Amino acid sequence: MSEKLVQVEHLRQYFPAGGFGKHKKFVQAVDDVSFDIYRGETLGLVGESGCGKTTTGRTLLRLYEPTGGRFTYDGEVIFDVEQKKFVNMLPYRKKMQIVFQDPYASLDPRMTIGDIVGEAIDVHKMAANKKERYDIIIEMLERVGLNSEHANRYPHEFSGGQRQRVGIARALAVRPEFIICDEPISALDVSIQAQVINMFEDLQAEMGLTYLFIAHDLSAVKHISNRIGVMYLGRMVELADSYELITRPLHPYTKSLISAIPIADPKTARESNRIVLEGDVPSPLNPPSGCRFRTRCPYADERCAAEVPEWRELEQGHFAACHHIEKCN
Ligand code: SF4
Repeated sequence: MSEKLVQVEHLRQYFPAGGFGKHKKFVQAVDDVSFDIYRGETLGLVGESGCGKTTTGRTLLRLYEPTGGRFTYDGEVIFDVEQKKFVNMLPYRKKMQIVFQDPYASLDPRMTIGDIVGEAIDVHKMAANKKERYDIIIEMLERVGLNSEHANRYPHEFSGGQRQRVGIARALAVRPEFIICDEPISALDVSIQAQVINMFEDLQAEMGLTYLFIAHDLSAVKHISNRIGVMYLGRMVELADSYELITRPLHPYTKSLISAIPIADPKTARESNRIVLEGDVPSPLNPPSGCRFRTRCPYADERCAAEVPEWRELEQGHFAACHHIEKCN
């Protein structure tokens, strides 16, 4: 796993939030975020609601126009805002797909499952004739555990888990290389979440897929991800190999997230040291100066308010942004 498929450098996504001229305000949803994803890898991206993880994924696909930064895919610059370079996305929409969080809202209730999966095949002219189109639809439905009988039914006839399978079949129909999985299991019953995660893993092995797997819950991504990045209020605070991040987190925010993962064994749970953060996440409209985590960090000092912590590789492949890593560990 050494070839970089995705390279994101200093990505910024600010949304206008009213005001005029000098008083114009922006929601700083993503601010100076950088990461790579290797071919065949799953990079998990976690953080609380509103931390910018979903916006990061959608900006890469240009569902939002980026405010700053550069995105390189398989060696091609897809956008470089500072250089004013933006490629035509159509050929890349085939290579890069997205599976949305809400399987209820993301499927058109007036279309049959077959037409929902077939739509992308039509857009990208993937089939030479009707028979080939039908064969691809059935193949994709079977890959996600559905079958030909489901093709003529409508979304309301399916459970949440089945609808999410349809969303995945739709993404797979154009034979992508890279899939942004945008909280694909958050809306599903806990009993179904593991099945869908296993299916993502099987599809990755069969089709050689690369995933950016977004979730608000670390326990949801820790098994599927090779590496995990943690975001807080629009910035990446830590990134490391999954096992390393879970067993030896360095950033105080990651430590608090890990301490919140439920532990099945009551004795171990009693002995574990749960870190409860004070206060709420500040508004991205007016984020704290310096380190954005400083209003909730037990180690914060004056330097944390004055300087943005540098994103540093502290050990091989283990990155974090904090002025006082030694003090926190
Ligand atoms: Fe806490 Fe300061 Fe480190 Fe931010 S830079 S995480 S406020 S110690």
